[in-house]
Amino acid sequence: MERELLDWLRARLPKSRRTVLGVGDDAAILRPTPSKELIVTTDMLMEGVDFVLAENEPELIGRKALAVNLSDLAAMAAEPVAAFASVALPNSMSVETAQRICEGMIALAEEFNVELAGGDTNTWSGQLCLSITALGETPPGRAWRRSGARPGDLLLATGAFGGSLLARHLHFIPRIREALLLAGDYDIHAAMDVSDGLSLDLSRLARESGCGAVLELNAVPIHDDAYRAARIQLGEESSDSLSPTAKSVLLNSKNRTPLEHALGDGEDFELLLAVAPDVAERLLVSQPLEVQLTRIGRFLEQPGLFADLEGEIVPLEPRGYEHGGG
Ligand SMILES: [Mg+2]
Repeated sequence: MERELLDWLRARLPKSRRTVLGVGDDAAILRPTPSKELIVTTDMLMEGVDFVLAENEPELIGRKALAVNLSDLAAMAAEPVAAFASVALPNSMSVETAQRICEGMIALAEEFNVELAGGDTNTWSGQLCLSITALGETPPGRAWRRSGARPGDLLLATGAFGGSLLARHLHFIPRIREALLLAGDYDIHAAMDVSDGLSLDLSRLARESGCGAVLELNAVPIHDDAYRAARIQLGEESSDSLSPTAKSVLLNSKNRTPLEHALGDGEDFELLLAVAPDVAERLLVSQPLEVQLTRIGRFLEQPGLFADLEGEIVPLEPRGYEHGGG
């Protein structure tokens, strides 16, 4: 199985463009762009935790495994260069299914001009596990960090939040193009991507920056999926179109309002940006991205996470998915 898949992959992958040597030798060879900094991120997806193989197209699972890594590169304003995929395949998996997982990765890699330059394939008695390491580049000192927000900065977000479980978590678009455009033209103090939940991730960003953050609750863009998720929980909308897992998670958890879904669901993979008020103003007026930029809060000296509900500032409990990584 491993040999067959590797042979297929070597023939299937495009010729090396961004690397000196890609898949096939003992190791890949990369020639970093002189004077650029290399940004490296890694993320592992596990069956039963991050996806359910039996319920989804294998292509979408491969796509997600790469997309979450590209989202982390976007959060650092890094231009993707190459990715390395290590996969543990269940013994029972067919070569065809394994190939379809790879096809999902390859299509996304081509869309964002990332070279799949190596990896490792093993079979075992466990479930599917996909670990991808992605490499990107930034001009020296220009990578965005979580630690740069300052009291007085405004908090902007791309896109809308909540309800990604309905399906969006599998086919979201990593905000690479948006990040590169912003990094080239605007002074962004701090950034991160929302993987675990808007309120939880924002609390992390604020903590890394040594300040606090206020979410302006009335301004948070709520995704249509969040409204749908809330209606499904209330029995006002059919859950028939959902995967069995999404259905069971939604129907077996506490009913939440669309806003609560937006604040805590996670896997939105939108960007949070801390910017000075004058820069924020320019961005909000010019809207230079394909996706909407919205002011959803501000940073302040007092540590912690707060909600602004029409002028009243109250502590806000961060909600989201807690795990070991980031
Ligand atoms: Mg991240």
